[in-house]
Amino acid sequence: MSAAEELNRPARADLRFAVIGAGMSGLLAAIKLEEAGFRQVEIFEREGDLGGTWRDNTYPGLSCDVPSHVYRYRFAPNPHWTRRFSSGGEIWQYLDKVARDYGVRDRIRFNSEIVRAEWDGAAWQLTTKGGETEIFDIVITATGVLRDPVMPDIPGLEDFERPVFHSARWDHSHDWRGKRMGLIGTGSTAIQITAAVAKEVGKLSLFQRTAQWVVPVENPEISEREQEALAKDPKRMEELYFFLADRFQNTFARAVVGDAEELAKVEKACEENLATVKDPELRAKLTPNYQAACKRLIMSDTFYEEVQRDTVEVVTEGIERIERNGVRTKDGRLHEIDLLVCATGFEAHKFMRPMQIVGRDGHTLDEEWAEANRAYRSIGIPGFPNFFTIVGPNSPIGNFSLIMISEMQFAYIMRLVDRIASGEAREIEPSREATDRFNGAIADAMTGTVWVSGCSSWYLDRNGNPAMWPWDFERFEEEMAEPDFNDFRIVS
Ligand code: NAP
Repeated sequence: MSAAEELNRPARADLRFAVIGAGMSGLLAAIKLEEAGFRQVEIFEREGDLGGTWRDNTYPGLSCDVPSHVYRYRFAPNPHWTRRFSSGGEIWQYLDKVARDYGVRDRIRFNSEIVRAEWDGAAWQLTTKGGETEIFDIVITATGVLRDPVMPDIPGLEDFERPVFHSARWDHSHDWRGKRMGLIGTGSTAIQITAAVAKEVGKLSLFQRTAQWVVPVENPEISEREQEALAKDPKRMEELYFFLADRFQNTFARAVVGDAEELAKVEKACEENLATVKDPELRAKLTPNYQAACKRLIMSDTFYEEVQRDTVEVVTEGIERIERNGVRTKDGRLHEIDLLVCATGFEAHKFMRPMQIVGRDGHTLDEEWAEANRAYRSIGIPGFPNFFTIVGPNSPIGNFSLIMISEMQFAYIMRLVDRIASGEAREIEPSREATDRFNGAIADAMTGTVWVSGCSSWYLDRNGNPAMWPWDFERFEEEMAEPDFNDFRIVS
């Protein structure tokens, strides 16, 4: 360690950190903790590789609908994105490269699921699935949101004798080209799959329970010349980052939290896009009966073109059951298929569970969240000292670049960690009063959002409340800028 690094070392550089998860936000935490001078950082990853959602999802057509030049770490610009919205594979490679460049990859403890975390009055005892236990001073969970796939609860699924898998567990050993594919779901995933496979599939039966609004967004290539120009000019990349962030924050992100003018623009774009579907019968099938952006808005400028191919049938009749060789709809028809893909979404409200988390005085997270998942500013939970969460409940998922959000949340967490590292605090956790106040304000503000305008979506928790950020980006920036230590229970 250099003399300067030595000087900048926090007083308690020996603090032991557990980072749980090696996806986008876990990698961020690991890199930033190291940068801050902490040397005892263990990174636990349930699976055998890093990258979270970008490791799990490999389906045809996968890309991110946040522009790549803003879907990157602030500290690691990438001039080599090949498209405005890069493919999932490219994003995974970026995360992998960042993890290697910052020396994190080799330190990740793969296949190490943490099944239990218990506060023993002074520190956290973590237990792995293998039964080993270790003690940590601070726990940072970075377990993601759309992590655990949900298979549809349709009778007969287990009777299907041909390949069947969830979109987030794509089985590449089965070639779908020229085959009859059944695809259940019409969320962002299924729309991307449809657009990608329609040309080469033998036949695609797209089982749609609910039609979706689709806003057309172009995805042009970024030429090698442009990439080289960006590589030579980091300032331009930085400007691009802020330009894109600003556009996102002031258009779509405002539309969903009560800006009627912006929402009207989104609606108009969706309606005009839908009008490009020529066949009135198909257009009627694809017409949603709820407000645009109530469900997660889908961005695609190819879906309508591709769904009009002769190879695609949009099946709106409900599914009765799945049989040995196909899907039987309620009208009695059997849709024979060779391969069934369930793009049926994720358990979006589990957060760090099923990990058992036992906080102060034996109080468990399951008890704390028995009614609803309530955190303080998404990052902390009363009763759980020195336990912090990146992309916890009510994070602005879906409105902004999630990497940017994670960075802001992590910077905030670091302000709390600083208190512990400097020796000013031994324990820090949000107060119950502040957490209730925060959640009360969230509930009040939710009434003005498009998410409660009358549709079902994964945004809604089991009480029907959106687990989202109901304000604009400025509010998020303000809340993340500086912790109000009056809102915390601090034990020194
Ligand atoms: P999703 O949005 O939760 O969609 C699940 C789909 O499956 C819905 O159409 C749902 O119908 C249908 N479904 C579920 N159970 C069913 C059943 N039993 N029978 C028939 N249909 C059933 O999941 P997702 O498409 O994987 O997307 C999840 C989120 O991931 C997105 O909203 C987005 O935030 C993110 N994502 C982003 C991108 C991107 O960046 N472009 C790509 C993929 C995913 P109902 O609508 O009727 O419930």
